[in-house]
Amino acid sequence: HAKGGGPRRWALYDEPMHRLALERLDVEESLRRALAHDGFRLLFQPIVDTTDGRIVSAEALLRLEHPTRGLLGPESFIGVAEGSDLIVPIGRWVLEEACRWLARWVEVAPDMQVTVNVSTRQVSHLALADQVADATRVSGADPSHLLLEITEHVLLDAGDDAARELARVTDAGPRLAIDDFGTGYASLSYLKRFPVSVVKIDRSFVNGLDRPGEDTAIVEAVIGLARTLGLGVVGEGVETAGQLAALQRLGCGRAQGFHIGRPMTGAELGTLLMRVPRTAPRSA
Ligand code: C2E
Ligand code: MG
Ligand code: MG
Ligand code: MG
Repeated sequence: HAKGGGPRRWALYDEPMHRLALERLDVEESLRRALAHDGFRLLFQPIVDTTDGRIVSAEALLRLEHPTRGLLGPESFIGVAEGSDLIVPIGRWVLEEACRWLARWVEVAPDMQVTVNVSTRQVSHLALADQVADATRVSGADPSHLLLEITEHVLLDAGDDAARELARVTDAGPRLAIDDFGTGYASLSYLKRFPVSVVKIDRSFVNGLDRPGEDTAIVEAVIGLARTLGLGVVGEGVETAGQLAALQRLGCGRAQGFHIGRPMTGAELGTLLMRVPRTAPRSA
């Protein structure tokens, strides 16, 4: 935007900046259209218990059906959604869709859980607790089977209002997981300040588990910290059998990644859950 002149006025005449602004408008338009015409898709990536391979949870991952560019991942639209208030109605849809599937899955897998990503804007908007309550009530999903994933950034940015909003969420039953744990610059004190139940070890550390090095020491320390504080722990981005074996050896309770299962539709995950015993696809 170069309205009113000022120091950024040059941007109007800068070709790449102009193209970026147009692309942003195009994405924003696609988001509005998707909200109005059922253009979002929610995929689910299995999370397994490392001791027996059972699927115990799934992370909801958002996709946008773009009229010309096909199915888009969050990296191409989440930023725009967060920069506008569109993330609020989009987040509501994600919660409702995830809870709808959760309510179906528990019919075949009673202890199944679902995790939903939540961004700073959604927490600071202070509509989150109401959205969560609505989504669980309408779908009939058990709130205690729902987890919200927030990054360390969200906790760092959270003022007192946002902290109270997160407490309102957990008071109603859902739990909080810290996503991409270890990549933020926040201090560990937020583990005390916020009602966190689970940490998800970022995949940059999990990737290093195949080779000897400090990643193994870091993952081991996080698992030890989680155990001491009574938190659950998930290893993210598991891409090889070696990484999964290392997580099992270190006592990481849960694992998620392409080696275990790709993001899939809710129906596909439901089919997997119907297999007895419930196991994750090994070949992904
Ligand atoms: P995230 O929450 O850390 O989600 C994990 C991302 O890593 C997903 O990418 C997933 O497909 C990918 N992934 C899973 N296993 C592996 C693996 O073994 N190797 C590698 N290299 N990647 C793996 P995706 O779906 O593109 O999502 C990217 C990010 O977008 C998410 O990161 C999350 O921060 C955000 N996001 C996704 N859905 C939503 C949503 O509904 N709302 C909000 N606010 N953010 C979302
Ligand atoms: Mg996540
Ligand atoms: Mg993550
Ligand atoms: Mg991530």
